[in-house]
Amino acid sequence: MAETLLKADKLKNFINGEWVEVKETTAVVNPANGKTIVEVPLSEGAAVNSAVESAKKAQKEWAQVPAPQRAEVLYRVGQIMKERKERLSQLLTMENGKVIEEARGEVQEGIDMAFYMAGEGRRLFGQTTPAELKDKFAMSQRCPVGVVGIITPWNFPIAIATWKSFPAIVAGNAVVWKPATETPIMAYELAKIFEEAGLPKGIINVVFGKGSTVGDAMVNHKDIRVISFTGSNDTGRSIASKCGEQLKKVSLEMGGKNAVIVMDDADLSLAVEGILWSAFGTSGQRCTACSRVIVHEDVKETLQERLLAEMEKLTIGDGLDESIKVGPIINESGLEKIKKYIEIGKEEGAKLLAGGYELTEDNHAGGNYFAPTLFTDATPEMRIAQEEIFGPVVSLIPVKSFEEAIEVNNGVSYGLSSSIFTSDVNKVFKAQRDLDTGIVYVNAGTTGAEIHLPFGGTKGTGNGHRDSGVQALDVFTEWKAVYVDFSGKLQRAQIDVE
Ligand code: NAP
Repeated sequence: MAETLLKADKLKNFINGEWVEVKETTAVVNPANGKTIVEVPLSEGAAVNSAVESAKKAQKEWAQVPAPQRAEVLYRVGQIMKERKERLSQLLTMENGKVIEEARGEVQEGIDMAFYMAGEGRRLFGQTTPAELKDKFAMSQRCPVGVVGIITPWNFPIAIATWKSFPAIVAGNAVVWKPATETPIMAYELAKIFEEAGLPKGIINVVFGKGSTVGDAMVNHKDIRVISFTGSNDTGRSIASKCGEQLKKVSLEMGGKNAVIVMDDADLSLAVEGILWSAFGTSGQRCTACSRVIVHEDVKETLQERLLAEMEKLTIGDGLDESIKVGPIINESGLEKIKKYIEIGKEEGAKLLAGGYELTEDNHAGGNYFAPTLFTDATPEMRIAQEEIFGPVVSLIPVKSFEEAIEVNNGVSYGLSSSIFTSDVNKVFKAQRDLDTGIVYVNAGTTGAEIHLPFGGTKGTGNGHRDSGVQALDVFTEWKAVYVDFSGKLQRAQIDVE
């Protein structure tokens, strides 16, 4: 199936509009069955140099193309993605494991982003503002940065790439992109779409390879002016310090320890649905996945019972099967990490109510499957309630009040997403004000971002930048202040004011 969908057994880098073969490769493995889908290049760091050279050259001309014309390419990209949505979704499920319904949702996110950012070609708004002196005009405008580097993770291989590359391109930059080695197929497909849509050569360059070689070469390349990274905190921290040394702009979107709060006045059926979707969707491998449920003690037993009953109905297997709700874990090291946290949770004294084991029998043989897992009676300071597990594991933390729920939610080092289920409008408004996360949901789970709003988090989740929304443009543009004096004489600001 992969062969017929992909029509390639080996991927190539895309540099300066050419498909470049690389000798050394590694296998891309379908996490649902352990079978090799395709070979992906393991480029040397030096490949980044030619990508940057081509990007630098192409960007100079691209920046001169009027933004509405640059946007025309994105409209075509969105249209082609729309036509290929089903094929892209199936390939995405094969390389990443997420169930087909979610893969379709992720591809749709990319399509939405294309049309949204294409619209920015006719906005890219700056400001005009009164000048303090007579016969003087003042304005601010966005300017492209130049060559930008984007480094993306495996868990959203196409959506995150579109959040970064589309605003960069419409703003007049050229891109060097290193996708995760685990999931390169979406990058290959997107590069082909850009090529077909008529993006000039060199504006997008895809270099496949490891973070420690290709990624590091990008971070250290003097002509890459911005790094936009999404991934783990350890990697993000190390990239940030290298960029700091070079005074290079860096945007970091990293981990989360997201919670659903369930108050005693909540619609419990809705809360159970929200928890199931955000804790076990993508097998818990979303940065916004719910891994804590902070529940009012008066409804804890009922919520727990209902949750367990619904968890039993979850079907686990290959995400290409439409009846499957929970797909595989990306790889063995992901599985090992989850298993480690199950042991930690038990040792810490949380009660394991369901799951906690790997699935290896029957239709799970060959894949990386983990049973949806529920801990209860966890306390806020436990490691399973503090650290990102990145798997289908959720811990119930009982609390006595709304105020305590907010405190527990905020008592972690991350700040990506949070959610509250309540029917009290006063609690809704207090919660959206007091929850210290970049994203807040009311009467919905912790996942489900829309692309025209800013995406990112507070505290250890990032460094203050945002993906998607118009805010993404701030990462890929510099603000320029322009003053035009038409008085015909030298007017000195702050001095020659009458
Ligand atoms: P990761 O291991 O940090 O990898 C992310 C990307 O960085 C990959 O392309 C990786 O390349 C590359 N990389 C690794 N080491 C590097 C280095 N020294 N220099 C430059 N690049 C390097 O993260 P992951 O496991 O793929 O992704 C899961 C994490 O992403 C989770 O923590 C999740 O919460 C976070 N995430 C955050 C958001 C958000 O918007 N906040 C969204 C999605 C995911 P290779 O793997 O190919 O070597």
